[in-house]
Amino acid sequence: MILVEELFCYAREIGVDLIGVTGAEPFPATRRLLEDRRRRGLYAPFAPADLDRACNPALNLPGAKSIIAVGLVYYQGKFPPPGGYRGYLARIAWGQDYHRVVGAKLELLQDFLRREVPGSRHMAFVDTGPLLDKEVARRAGLGWFGKNTLLVTRFGSWVSLGGILTTVNLSPNSPKQKDCGNCDLCLRACPTGALVAPGVLDPERCLSCLTQRKGYFPLDLRQALGSRLYGCDTCQEVCPHNRDIPVTAEPGFFPGGQEHRPQLVQLLGMNNREFKTAFGTSAAGWRGRTVLQRNALVAVGNLGDPDLLPVLENCLRDPRPVIRGHAAWALGRLGNRRARGALERALSGEGEPRVQREIRLALAGAV
Ligand code: SF4
Ligand code: SF4
Repeated sequence: MILVEELFCYAREIGVDLIGVTGAEPFPATRRLLEDRRRRGLYAPFAPADLDRACNPALNLPGAKSIIAVGLVYYQGKFPPPGGYRGYLARIAWGQDYHRVVGAKLELLQDFLRREVPGSRHMAFVDTGPLLDKEVARRAGLGWFGKNTLLVTRFGSWVSLGGILTTVNLSPNSPKQKDCGNCDLCLRACPTGALVAPGVLDPERCLSCLTQRKGYFPLDLRQALGSRLYGCDTCQEVCPHNRDIPVTAEPGFFPGGQEHRPQLVQLLGMNNREFKTAFGTSAAGWRGRTVLQRNALVAVGNLGDPDLLPVLENCLRDPRPVIRGHAAWALGRLGNRRARGALERALSGEGEPRVQREIRLALAGAV
């Protein structure tokens, strides 16, 4: 299988850290697992909606023979926290959008295959495609599933995954036979108890899922959100497999300046154009301005600093109800006289029932 060796060699040349191959046959055990999760309300919101396509690769590319799985380490090393009122972005969103970074490598690998096997056909996927990138990577031998549901590789779990479904027949790799053993650090560290059992995540409690979901942030989890604006890294930070791992060699994953710790006041004041300029190339930008500003309001509420009161008063006049509602919650966390006055004035002019409820809760101190 000279082609596989050449492919792997080329992948290393272009900066792919992990690569493996699995066959394009279906994933029946995964399908059963996902159906069970769906029945129990534990299906991740951004997982593929179409289980037929997710678990039967050939439905996506007739004649498919193999799937190439790739992984790029994105761990950037330690960065001293910058000063000021700032929020937290998960590491995956620190630099350029990983869809683009990984996608560019996949383009090069497809070009390679087209050159080597004229007439071959391919379908690349990164995260949002119809296939299950983590399961593909596991079966291709890139790593094994940790109790935090993430793929643990020889470089830990700070790894962006992607793959190529191809009509080229490549020799497959074997899955890794490894597990977490007695460790349960991630289950104990999760701030919301979202890891309800080893390898089972409740998306209704996972802060990473919730920071990306539209609408009102669950009231009972707002304090646990801390200053997270996008994603949550806690169950990766505590993992022993993420100690002493190499820093990424991919320049695109590094933040250019301090944009990985956005200034909360600045973020809350952004219009759409400014938001696009600041977050357009980051993975954090995909859900849009309102979701990140909503999370920023929760972060401001959790900081509880009276100096931030004027910015909250401003947000209480925002045309978007979800912003007014979360500004009310944050003002309730300050709980001082000026905050109460702002809430009372806002309540008298508020027409939206859900925002009225948030204001009443804030005034009652139930936040
Ligand atoms: S990402 Fe955060 S909230 Fe979600 S399971 Fe991990 S530690 Fe818990
Ligand atoms: S923290 Fe421990 S239990 Fe969790 S994924 Fe890492 S090794 Fe497994």
